[in-house]
Amino acid sequence: MKIFKHILLGLLFVSAGAFAQDTEEKEKPQGHTNTNKFKQLYDEFATPNMFRTGSGAPGPAYYQQQADYKMDIEIDDEKARLYGYETITYTNNSPDELTYLWVQLDQNMRARDSKTPLIRSNGIGPATTASRAATTYLKERFDGGFNIQEVSDVNKKALPHTINRTMMRVELPKALNTGDKFTFNIKWWYNINDHVKDGGRSGYEYFPENDNRIYVMAQFYPRMAVYNDVEGWQNSQFWGRDEFALPFGNFDVNITVPADHVLDGTGYLTNREEVFSKEMMKRYKEAKKSYDKPVVIVTQEEAEKTEKTKSKDKKTWKLSAQMVRDFGFATSRKFIYDMMAVKLDTKDVMAVSMYSKEGNPLWGDWSTKVVASTLKSYSRMTFDYPYHKAISAHAPMGMEYPMICYNFGRPNKDGTYSDRVKFGMMGVIIHEVGHNWFPMIINSDERQWTWMDEGLNTFVQYVAEQDFGEWFPDALSPGQTKYPSRRGPAKNIVRYMGGNQDFIAPIMTKGLNTYQFGSNAYAKPATGLNILRETVMGRDLFDYAFKEYANRWKFKHPTPEDFFRTMEDASAVDLDWFWRGWFYTTDYTDIGVKEVKKYAVTTTPTEEGKKLAERYKQFGIDPNSLVYFVGEDEEGYQEALDAGQLADVPTVKEFVMDNFTTDQQKEIKSPKYFYQVTFNKPGGLVMPLIVEYTYADGSKERETYPAQIWRLNDNEASRAIASQKEIVSITVDPDLETADVDTSNNTWPKEVKESDFNKFKNQIKD
Ligand SMILES: [Zn+2]
Repeated sequence: MKIFKHILLGLLFVSAGAFAQDTEEKEKPQGHTNTNKFKQLYDEFATPNMFRTGSGAPGPAYYQQQADYKMDIEIDDEKARLYGYETITYTNNSPDELTYLWVQLDQNMRARDSKTPLIRSNGIGPATTASRAATTYLKERFDGGFNIQEVSDVNKKALPHTINRTMMRVELPKALNTGDKFTFNIKWWYNINDHVKDGGRSGYEYFPENDNRIYVMAQFYPRMAVYNDVEGWQNSQFWGRDEFALPFGNFDVNITVPADHVLDGTGYLTNREEVFSKEMMKRYKEAKKSYDKPVVIVTQEEAEKTEKTKSKDKKTWKLSAQMVRDFGFATSRKFIYDMMAVKLDTKDVMAVSMYSKEGNPLWGDWSTKVVASTLKSYSRMTFDYPYHKAISAHAPMGMEYPMICYNFGRPNKDGTYSDRVKFGMMGVIIHEVGHNWFPMIINSDERQWTWMDEGLNTFVQYVAEQDFGEWFPDALSPGQTKYPSRRGPAKNIVRYMGGNQDFIAPIMTKGLNTYQFGSNAYAKPATGLNILRETVMGRDLFDYAFKEYANRWKFKHPTPEDFFRTMEDASAVDLDWFWRGWFYTTDYTDIGVKEVKKYAVTTTPTEEGKKLAERYKQFGIDPNSLVYFVGEDEEGYQEALDAGQLADVPTVKEFVMDNFTTDQQKEIKSPKYFYQVTFNKPGGLVMPLIVEYTYADGSKERETYPAQIWRLNDNEASRAIASQKEIVSITVDPDLETADVDTSNNTWPKEVKESDFNKFKNQIKD
């Protein structure tokens, strides 16, 4: 009847929309969208195919493009200008025919006509600093950007090309089929930016004291864009935030700089004997055998002497790198240079640092040791570092390239430094060296998915920081027993996740379009992985699966699904609920104890008990054979509690005698206290329910109910607890493992105190 009515109403609504609007909500035909939080991610995930399998591995038809570069680069130190000529050989391994190529012109972000400054919404505040006012309102924009002088084929014949801001389309004389190669040349120059004044991920820092510069160079050459099975050409413009998508290739790069510079970068230095002095060669050979501390190749004294004069001569440093996705180098006459050897499971590699006197003593004491420790930790969590060296170069920002990264952290003028500066430097070195794995080798698309490099890397950074604190206890400050990691522990993400929802975006958002970039793309994914490792999966299952992901996608291009799928495929843990909640929504964790009801066994049934007995009787069960419970708010509870335990009930006793073996009877526990504990979940996220029960004798018991306890009711879950001892308190998530944003409801009996979450919320309202 009811069904009929609904069908009838449904028909009416279809033909008369206006009528439907006037009807009460409950009269509308009801349908359910499947919003179950344990629903598999079939709608969100791309369908597995021959390129990428359902297990998260590269498929049988997986391919990737290759871009090989031969470059001649020269830096004019006087004008702070870079000149370059490159020959790119592009190999089409895709099954598709290509009629044009896309080349990335990242420097154009700094061109005078760049639109980057125009996408920022700004205004005039009541007060600002003089320097900001001057740079905003008085200064002419820096004249950056590539000046492309030639785009030509092997015969130097000009190739038609179109520059669309930071992307250049090069038209091919004839279509490039599978397996075909195309070789072409680009000639360019640009003004190098002062990245301290004008920002940027590369450029120079100027030291007016003796008119010197430290160059940390990157994005300095036109770079091939990625073409693949998921995006086609990844030619999304570079607005300055979302990083890079780059194919692998081999590089031969000759870099000409003033003869008194010390230079290092991506790749093998193939003319070391030419560019190193005899003394440097000797020290370099010692460094290759020094596993416990760095050997200084260029000392501070030598660097200080060099920076006082300027050589008019030039020197060319030749670097050659195989299977890298990018190229960076650092050069200056100010550089102090040190190195040590690092023993990994399968090979030795070199940890290297380049820094000026302004970085000492902090850099000389710690930089290279931090690099070495990081190489060991990351190798253990993924695979042995495949390159031969990792360089940490001193700069006022943190940024990563294959084999070389730029890191901040500078002591005061008198050489002293705070913990903040020290751990800031150590943290950034661990982080940027770690980027060698994510995304330099496990080569994800940074332009689209910031979290795939920053989040995964920040997670391993946390593991490596903890290792470092353990391996180098003298790096810690007095009173510290652990490295003070900022990102990773669940409790550190609470403030972000419990904050104003108007300014939180799901992790699965393009970096450019997210609020609170650091929390969104670094801290939250890293914390999520840490929760998976410590709380949901356990270290063994997590580490195996994580390593599997790293190895499957080593020197390849993974997508988010490849990661999500591999983590499940290698562990047999269904994590769709976790990915869905943590990565695709902005829900937060809030789980509490709603209510605890006590019961006792009784021989005198309550009124409700009698009613239920009647129903048992209909199924032929004798009411006298039932076990009855009485609640604490019902009459007879205290008498029942005083009277006895479950095993004393005659019918139970009889059942035990008839059905239990003698051995089983000896082991019988006899609960006296019965509790119905109801947990509630005001937060949208599902999480394992971790509960600590404390008994009257002071003993404690922990139980972790899997997240699936919420699968049929997203708001509440109850558990019946039978105990020989009285429970005096219950705590949810006692070790703060789940990022619960409001712990004021986590205990029974309720502790009367205002939670930090509520305090924070109230502050926001103010
Ligand atoms: Zn990073």
